[in-house]
Amino acid sequence: MAADIDCLVLGAGVVGLAVARELALAGREVLVAEAAGSIGTGISSRNSEVIHAGIYYPPGSLKARLCAEGRHLLYGYCRERGIAHARTGKLIVAGRPEQIRQLDAIAENARRNGVDDIHRISGAQARQLEPALACEAALVSPSTGIIDSHGLMLALQGDAQNRGAQFAFHSPFLDGQVLENGVFRMNFGGAEPMALTAASVVNATGLHAPSVARRLAGQPTRHIPHAYFCKGSYFTLSSRSPFSRLIYPMPDGAGLGIHLTLDLAGRARFGPDTEWVDGEDYALDPNRASLFYAAIRRYWPDLPDNALEPGYTGIRPKISRAGQPPADFAIAGPATHGVHNLINLFGIESPGLTACLAIARAARQALGF
Ligand SMILES: Cc1cc2nc3c(=O)[nH]c(=O)nc-3n(C[C@H](O)[C@H](O)[C@H](O)COP(=O)(O)OP(=O)(O)OC[C@H]3O[C@@H](n4cnc5c(N)ncnc54)[C@H](O)[C@@H]3O)c2cc1C
Repeated sequence: MAADIDCLVLGAGVVGLAVARELALAGREVLVAEAAGSIGTGISSRNSEVIHAGIYYPPGSLKARLCAEGRHLLYGYCRERGIAHARTGKLIVAGRPEQIRQLDAIAENARRNGVDDIHRISGAQARQLEPALACEAALVSPSTGIIDSHGLMLALQGDAQNRGAQFAFHSPFLDGQVLENGVFRMNFGGAEPMALTAASVVNATGLHAPSVARRLAGQPTRHIPHAYFCKGSYFTLSSRSPFSRLIYPMPDGAGLGIHLTLDLAGRARFGPDTEWVDGEDYALDPNRASLFYAAIRRYWPDLPDNALEPGYTGIRPKISRAGQPPADFAIAGPATHGVHNLINLFGIESPGLTACLAIARAARQALGF
């Protein structure tokens, strides 16, 4: 029995869109099924929009490798497609003298990940770059930047569509099974429920990837991780930003510490903090501002009272729980679960935006296309 469709991609976030583009460019017939009414309404529109250099990840991990590869691909793609971006650079700051050794360890890790332009400067040199900054020393990462994530997603969708990919919005995947001949039978809900068969499936449903995988019968469930949600809140600065680079404190476990990033209009936003939550609730608690003032004033003592306004929140699709070391990306293909032509993408948290083109390439290769 031939399948209705060659490649089915579940989810139209930045990763699903990059996969759809990659497969369409490789000459495959692609259908993207998305639960929401448009692209990028999930994690992909609730993040910091930073093009990461790849500084902190364990050397040899997928995060390290795909961030480095993805960053090069992404800067090239932005130039080629005219996607708004800026190589702002980033400072990682040591607020106390005893943290300087930590800076050196971070720089060494970055170099092992191939980030060869990172270097340490003194507190005085940092203040020459950013006069409002208070710190003992800092690392400069010149290759960190920012991107218009929606512009990126529109370009990916456009490329995929130009190569024939089709999109079905309002089409939440409900359940399915791997048939005996290896074809996938998939059921969708929404206003117009449908069923179709697909020869291959890429599950790029972000926060829901583990639950989607569990609803696709016929694959071993052993490899499907538990999903943990870790919310991050952002506050924005009501006045002009005194900084022109991104400013990061020392990493703090589940996140990178309450850092300052800029949007392409030069407006500053702070966050995300970390809050483990049970469900997909994006409400922002304005009372969290007090934590932000305290954290930000460690590197920007002159932050005025009442300068922060509630921004937005995002949720990290974690597959390791609070207190555990962060899990690596999981690109679970046939080598992991034994089912041909099925890729589950689990735990695609940061740097998933930076790495999207490299993740897409890895997913295509894992499918053998
Ligand atoms: C707070 C925060 C800050 C971040 N900052 C950065 C950063 O600065 N730089 C960086 O590189 N990365 C960053 N990231 C990571 C990056 O945003 C993600 O890795 C990336 O957006 C994940 O994209 P995705 O396509 O996997 O998920 P999503 O964008 O969530 O897309 C998944 C899609 O699947 C759809 N879906 C869900 N269930 C179903 C179903 N049953 N059927 C059909 N469709 C379904 C959803 O509607 C959604 O559209 C950050 C993440 C967070 C949470």
